Amino acid sequence: AKRAGRGTVRLFDESMDTAIRFRGRVESGLSQAIDNGELRLVYQPIVARDQLEVIAFEALLRWKSPDFGDVQPSQFIPIAEETDLIHELGDWVLDAALAVLARWPGQYVSVNFSPRQFRRHNFVGHIMERVQRAGVAPNRLQIEITETALFDDAERAADTLYRLRQMGFRIALDDFGTGYSSFYNIRTFALDCLKIDRSFIDGMGRERESAAIVHSIINLGRALGLEVVAEGVETAAQLQALRVAGCSHYQGYYLARPLEHDLAAEVAGERYLA
Ligand code: C2E
Ligand code: CA
Ligand code: CA
Ligand code: CA
Repeated sequence: AKRAGRGTVRLFDESMDTAIRFRGRVESGLSQAIDNGELRLVYQPIVARDQLEVIAFEALLRWKSPDFGDVQPSQFIPIAEETDLIHELGDWVLDAALAVLARWPGQYVSVNFSPRQFRRHNFVGHIMERVQRAGVAPNRLQIEITETALFDDAERAADTLYRLRQMGFRIALDDFGTGYSSFYNIRTFALDCLKIDRSFIDGMGRERESAAIVHSIINLGRALGLEVVAEGVETAAQLQALRVAGCSHYQGYYLARPLEHDLAAEVAGERYLA
């Protein structure tokens, strides 16, 4: 892009120019971020229904860049996802989560995998190798994927999930309800857990539609013997409504924000209700 001086032709408007340069700087920044120790994981508690006990965590990636400061995952994961950088980043995330898991209480840690990672050649073998190297039992790792990951080659996706589950890994379908073919996915794929997208929890108290969708997902999950996690629980009223509806697990700022790993270890097994 050219700087527009007097009398020169502008190839891009200012915002497009800025966006493209931001992108380029994020790409080169990210490839150094791993080596420079700028990445870390935080862990958000997942709480079970009966006594509101912290039974597990979702690992969430954080990047503190010397150039940009704190960069949100929503700003850099999509950029990494467009290139092979996502593999390097994803491997770092997995190894970091496994290292923590190896010396942690709690049932499992849930790790996000992007569609490109999931479709990677020999994804199953790749994960298994790292889990074995870390000395962690497969059932302590939950693999979170979105419906997008399953979409374009459903047969291959079904096979990958089947093999992962055969090896003992847990599988969660993330942002459930926002994808294209939720019912198809639920019928075809081997799953352990549905995560109800935050947008439905957010709308629950205001719109009948959101409340109805939340109830349907909970009932469907229960009927199929799946764990159902409500994401983005922000108020006591939401928690109460979800408990009454029979939702099995909760995650959200009302219960706990994502925590640094030493703090997360301290709250593992704690209960909000005696
Ligand atoms: P997600 O997987 O749906 O993760 C949940 C997001 O909701 C997290 O945002 C979390 O901090 C936020 N959250 C949790 N409780 C609440 C709440 O009560 N209210 C609100 N408003 N937000 C809440 P975060 O950490 O910014 O991550 C955003 C997205 O980035 C994630 O959405 C996930 O898609 C992606 N992501 C994060 N870490 C990783 C990673 O290690 N690998 C990959 N592939 N994607 C990641
Ligand atoms: Ca997630
Ligand atoms: Ca989610
Ligand atoms: Ca999301």
